[in-house]
Amino acid sequence: MLQAIKRFFGKNNNLEHPEIIRIPRDQHPVSRKQISESALKVLYRLNKQNHEAYLVGGGVRDIMVGIQPKDFDIVTDATPEEVRALFRNSRIIGRRFKIVHVVFGREIIEVATFRAGAEDAVDRGHGDSHKRSDTGMLLRDNVYGSLEEDIIRRDFTINAMYYTTSDFSLVTLATSLDDLDARQIRMIGDPDQRYREDPVRMLRAVRFAAKLDFSIEHATAAPIESMAHLLDNIPAARLFDDVLKLFMSGYGVRTYQRLQEYGLFRHLFPHTQAVLDQAPDEQYEALILSALKSTDDRIARDKSVTPAFIYAAFLWPVVETQTLSNRNAGTPPIPAQQQAIQEAISLQGQRTSIPKRFQFTMRDIWELQSRLPNRQGNRAERLVTHPKFRAAFDFMLLREASGVDLDGLGQWWEDYQNADEQSRQQMVGALGGQRRKTRTRRKRPAL
Ligand code: ATP
Ligand code: MG
Repeated sequence: MLQAIKRFFGKNNNLEHPEIIRIPRDQHPVSRKQISESALKVLYRLNKQNHEAYLVGGGVRDIMVGIQPKDFDIVTDATPEEVRALFRNSRIIGRRFKIVHVVFGREIIEVATFRAGAEDAVDRGHGDSHKRSDTGMLLRDNVYGSLEEDIIRRDFTINAMYYTTSDFSLVTLATSLDDLDARQIRMIGDPDQRYREDPVRMLRAVRFAAKLDFSIEHATAAPIESMAHLLDNIPAARLFDDVLKLFMSGYGVRTYQRLQEYGLFRHLFPHTQAVLDQAPDEQYEALILSALKSTDDRIARDKSVTPAFIYAAFLWPVVETQTLSNRNAGTPPIPAQQQAIQEAISLQGQRTSIPKRFQFTMRDIWELQSRLPNRQGNRAERLVTHPKFRAAFDFMLLREASGVDLDGLGQWWEDYQNADEQSRQQMVGALGGQRRKTRTRRKRPAL
């Protein structure tokens, strides 16, 4: 199909002046059946008011590669205020660049107004609306533009695909079709400059490559390693959102491997990377990979996932090494761990913010790791009813799977959860030896 379209339209791979093509409805694979009712409603209503309106970005891209899109973004020539006025169920979001959220129950359709990219605006004397930092990062990017301008300010060619219900045609770059065919991520324009404008595009390149199992085209991949440090200029709150997209979209393992390949991971989790660099064996990395794998599997089975779990795995190497070093410096076990947790969270918070509710869960998961071995008396029963027991238990299984020897603790807790009350008591009773051991150990400091 794509080959035929290209023969029909010819091609022009000059990305300085990329060729924009319009493909009629019978010559591309996007159909209304793959698009949500709500997104169609928004498109139809905008068209009815004589506005141009297109489905764009991930929604169209995913349909083109045969994936069910997870959400739908729309662009239009209507201003946010005009869009807002057309839909009672809508609200304007954002102060810097306004977009409109049209809300249909649990589904939100994002509607943006065509915008011009940096160079076009500068050419036309809009200098100030595209302010840059001293590293070339775009600080403002809020000039409305035409469809053509909107196309070339997109990040990657495969994201610059626009579908309209006014005549069901698909507007895109000729190169977008080549790149889809070649299964590659290619930056629109000069990659170096576009990473400088927005370093998060490096994370996006890797994210899409991992999700779609595409390669990153040579010129698009080449500057990443040497520009990775520009991520250090991105505000911690934005990076947190991007970390979620990287690891909570169902392709965490592949994404992690590519982030490592391009030297990006160390700019997201520098303290974790420092431990990984020093760790003599690969247990910590194995733990991270098993946490990501388990998250990927849960997403595939439509089960709930929490960022706290992934963060607990990413930061565990920091917590554990720091706890050890505190203990070696003479701090007793509990405060040693408390301090390490505090430090790990606050250091990471400078890179990617971590909302408080996730911090609480991470703490629980970590603290329970040292409580799970102590099952004597009524402790096991108390632990099993702890609200974060399940998360902590799952985490402990991952530690075991990554090669940590916990003396069968995972199996014991597995059995305990499945046992009736009487068997539970027997299981705890059978731990008698350990109980005495714990007691003697406890007495020592008192002497
Ligand atoms: P996903 O499947 O993750 O939603 P997406 O491609 O839709 O993928 P969004 O973050 O929803 O990604 O962005 C929608 C579109 O906006 C993208 O396809 C891209 O065209 C454009 N875009 C988003 N972020 C950037 C950026 N930093 N620079 C340039 N264009 C961007
Ligand atoms: Mg999207």
